[in-house]
This record gives sequence, structure tokens and C-alpha cells, in this order.
Amino acid sequence: MNEAVDNGEGGRDFIREIVREDLATGRHASVVTRFPPEPNGYLHIGHAKSICLNFRIAEEFGGRCHLRFDDTNPTKEEQEFIEAIQDDVRWLGFGWGEYLYFASDNFEQLYQWAELLIEADKAYVDDLSPDEIRDYRGTLTEPGRNSPHRDRDTAESLELFRRMRAGQFPNGAHVLRAKIDMASGNMNMRDPVLYRILHTEHPRTGKNWCIYPGYDFAHGQSDAIERVTHSLCTLEFADHRPLYEWLLQAIGTAERPQQYEFSRLNLSHAVLSKRRLTQLVDEGHVDGWDDPRMPTLSGLRRRGVPAAAIRDFISRLAITKSDGLVEMAMLEHCIREQLNIEAPRRMAVIRPLKVVIDNYPEDKTEMLKAQNHPGNPEMGSREIPFSREIYVERDDFMEDPPKKFFRLGPGREVRLRYAYFITCQEIIKNGNGEVEELRCTYDPATKGGNAPDGRKVKGTIHWVSVAHALRAEVRLYNNLFKSEEPPGGDDFRTDLDPNSLEILSDARLEPGLSSLQAGQTVQFERLGYFCRDQNSSLVINRTLGLRDSWLKIKSKG
Ligand code: ATP
Ligand code: MG
Repeated sequence: MNEAVDNGEGGRDFIREIVREDLATGRHASVVTRFPPEPNGYLHIGHAKSICLNFRIAEEFGGRCHLRFDDTNPTKEEQEFIEAIQDDVRWLGFGWGEYLYFASDNFEQLYQWAELLIEADKAYVDDLSPDEIRDYRGTLTEPGRNSPHRDRDTAESLELFRRMRAGQFPNGAHVLRAKIDMASGNMNMRDPVLYRILHTEHPRTGKNWCIYPGYDFAHGQSDAIERVTHSLCTLEFADHRPLYEWLLQAIGTAERPQQYEFSRLNLSHAVLSKRRLTQLVDEGHVDGWDDPRMPTLSGLRRRGVPAAAIRDFISRLAITKSDGLVEMAMLEHCIREQLNIEAPRRMAVIRPLKVVIDNYPEDKTEMLKAQNHPGNPEMGSREIPFSREIYVERDDFMEDPPKKFFRLGPGREVRLRYAYFITCQEIIKNGNGEVEELRCTYDPATKGGNAPDGRKVKGTIHWVSVAHALRAEVRLYNNLFKSEEPPGGDDFRTDLDPNSLEILSDARLEPGLSSLQAGQTVQFERLGYFCRDQNSSLVINRTLGLRDSWLKIKSKG
């Protein structure tokens, strides 16, 4: 079920083989690729696969990669998305230099080419309504029927098309269609619509146009205008390739880019379709496109995922001719691997239980030395305050613990990380019988975590000093969807996990974390990776817990 294979950086997938071959045979002197998002939403991790493929191939073969906005549908496209997409591509670590393009920059040229097709009797203006066009189109098993307007005079089509441009017709009154073959086995070749009337302002061209080209009429031609050599897209566009080629041929463009299709990324427990992600945002199931549960690049970033982890994940994916499903656990594995290296260690207690150390002086504060990364001494150390009252994790205490619970319980001794051994002497409960506080004693000889008498303790727990701790809200995230593959259609919403966000409003952090920058990720010892949210108050997002389920899945094969 898992399509992922480790083919490493600059792997030898079939697309790279083609590029290598084309350069070797001199078919192309240099390689030009492009990443062509439609600015109708934010980028998701699936797009990262396309971004990494296009930009990396350009890098590896000394070519260039363009960023092109496929902005042909003004009803869904917005400036906000144009900016967010650029931010995300840059954040992921790629640059397009001066090669920023918009399909809308080509509107005049595309229009001229459309007139050319009409004059060559390869396109005609149709008066059928969208419903009628669908009806005439036939089905996969039945050929379509010619529109009654298919054979109208080229001069008449040309005049109508010019009047469409001039704004003389309402939306839907006419369309421009390619004249190809209504009986073609490929539905895309059954006289596809090239232009439609849309009296809608465009984010870039304003009110200049009231007719807009469709995706197919803009895409290949924009590739040709930009002199793209290898036009890489996902498998669902394979059926569009004959049209892509027909149009370039019919127009007679100087450049003939070639389209190649590769497997799209599908991720378990997530949806990767802008339409569905838009629904999640618009219907308020999430807190915007950058909600840390979203599989968007902005969501992952807000969650504390480093760009390097995403690049690493993508580099392990197969570039093939068949779609598959990749485990979310594999993405998480890559994130943990990266954060394990780069995230400084800190202490925080997310479900606090107060501990009073009875034999510790009441007004004393000691500064204790703590390593920033036990595996990397170069990351240095810091000092954390210790005092008579501390918080420990509620989960680190059991009133009636089993033998193998090596944490706190009545009469049990544990090590406080970087501090002392403490022994639980007494449990204080509130009126409801809930444990409210522990009374402990400490052994002053165990400072730093070792007993001079050689006595061992099995458990080490984290803590923060009550008087010095910062109060914070911690948000724990789980998968947005319960199923590995959320159901299709609009039913995917029924699969939303109501427990995908858990808010802990009374967490306590070691005081140095006041300077934690928004977006900076640290490891809270024993708890996982966390980063500060972008808002001004102290809100902390959990990136991931520490336990890696991918290694287990992988070893099961
Ligand atoms: P969605 O299916 O999410 O609505 P889209 O294909 O409509 O995405 P575009 O903005 O048109 O979104 O996509 C830009 C590029 O990213 C296209 O070349 C597309 O093939 C590629 N892409 C989109 N989704 C994925 C994915 N899941 N895996 C790999 N590439 C993708
Ligand atoms: Mg698309």
C-alpha cells in the first residue's frame, strides 16, 4: 500500500532519465521546468512534491524553474493566494529568480492565437448552453454529437468572438470551442471549450477582459511562451496531453514543450485537494488555511515543521506512473528525524501537579545547569531555577502504581532531571478525592542527578519551578481525519476527528522560554516537539509527540 521508496536526492526516476537523455542527445540545450499553481488556495504537501521535482531537476541539470500562476479563472482566484504561494515556495527553500510568470500576462497573445484557430477553421463559436454542451458531449461509451453551430462560417465565428471580447454578450451566451472530433475516445478531444464569457474582474488584469481562456488553452501555450522544455504534471492530466499537443501543433508555436505526468502524493489521514481544503476553511472546521492540522505548507510551518523535513520526506517518494497512498507516519518520521537534530531541549509541564519538597529551604532558589541537547554538546547549556515548590506531570504520578511504573508513587524515589532525587511522602487530596499536591523530600547529596552512595533510581522526570514558571496554553494536534482514506465526495467531512485539537490551558514552561520566537521549535523533554504560535500571547503548538510509529510500520513491511 505504501508507494514510498527511498530514491534519495537527485534519484534516477523516469523523468530525470528523460531529461538526462534530452540533454545528452542535444534535443534541448538546457532544461526549463515550471511550477504552475492556480492561485485558488494555499499550497499543500502534495504541491511540495511538484515543487521539489521541478526546482530540483532545474538545479541538478543546470537549468531554471519558473513560478507560473495559472490564473485563468477570476471567480476563484485571489491576490491573497498569490502572495501566500510565493511565501510557501520560498520557505520550502526554492527561488525562481526573475522567472515569475502569470498566465494572465499572455491573455492578449492567447486571444490572438484563438483568432488564428478560428481563421484556420480549427475553432468555432458555439451558442449551446453549458448543459447542452454536456449533453452533446456523449459518454465514455457513446460518441458525442456535433453542435448545430459547428459548421458556421469562420467569418461569423470571428465576428462573434470579437463581440464576446467586446462585452456584447452575457455570461454563458457563447463559448469558443476547438474543432477536433466529437467521436474521439478521449473526452478532452470532443471539441473542448477554449474560452468562456465571464463578466468578472481579474486580480491582475482588472476589467480588461470579460472572456477567459480555460486551463487547457492557457497551459501549453504558456509553457511554449516561456520556452519550458519539460512540463511536469500529475497523472490526471495524462488525458489532456493529446489536447496540449493538438493546440501547440494547430497554433504552430515555435517551441514545443513536452508534457510528462507523474504520480501525485496522497497522504493517509488527510485530504489533499484544494476544493476540499477550501471547504474545511470556509465551513469553519479548521482555524484557517494555516491551522496546524491542515496539510498545507503554511499549516505545517505554523505547527513547527522545518522545511528541511518536508524536503527530506519528498525526496523519499517515488516518482512513478501510478498513484499510491503514503502513510502520514512516514512524514512524521521525517519531521522527528530533523527535529531530533535541530531542536534544543527544554522543560515544560503540560498537565501540572504541584510538589512541595518539605525539607528544602523555603526562600531558596538554586540555578541548575541543563544541557540544551544531550547529543550535541555544541548547543551548550542553560541555567534553570529550582525551588521548594515545583510542578511535575500528572501522568508521572500514580497513587497505586504497578511495579514497572518507574515514576512517582507513594514512597517511591525518582530523579528530577538536572536536579535531585525526591521521594514521595504524602498525597494531598481535595474534597472530591482528587490528588491536588504531593509532599516529598529531597536528598541534598544527589544534586545534578547522582547519589554518592551509588544508589540507583530508574525513573527521571521533568519539572518546572512553581514560582518561576511561565503559564502557557498548549495545543495538542492529532490527525484531522479518523480514517486512513477519508471517504470521497462531500462525505469526507463525516470523517473529521472531533478530538483533533486538545487545548491545555494551564501548562507551565521553564522561564527561559519567554524568549522563544514564534515558529521556533524545541523539544520539551519526554513530551515531544513544540513551537510557539505566531500570536502574541504564549500559545504553544505541539508539532509531534516523541513516539515514532513509522519505524514499526516499516519493519512490518
Ligand atoms: P488540487 O488537486 O489540490 O486542487 P491542483 O492540481 O488543482 O490541486 P494546482 O494549483 O493546479 O492544484 O497545482 C499546481 C501543480 O501542483 C500542478 O502541476 C499539479 O499537478 C501539482 N500537484 C497538485 N497536487 C499534487 C499532489 N497531491 N501531488 C503532486 N503534485 C501535485
Ligand atoms: Mg488544478
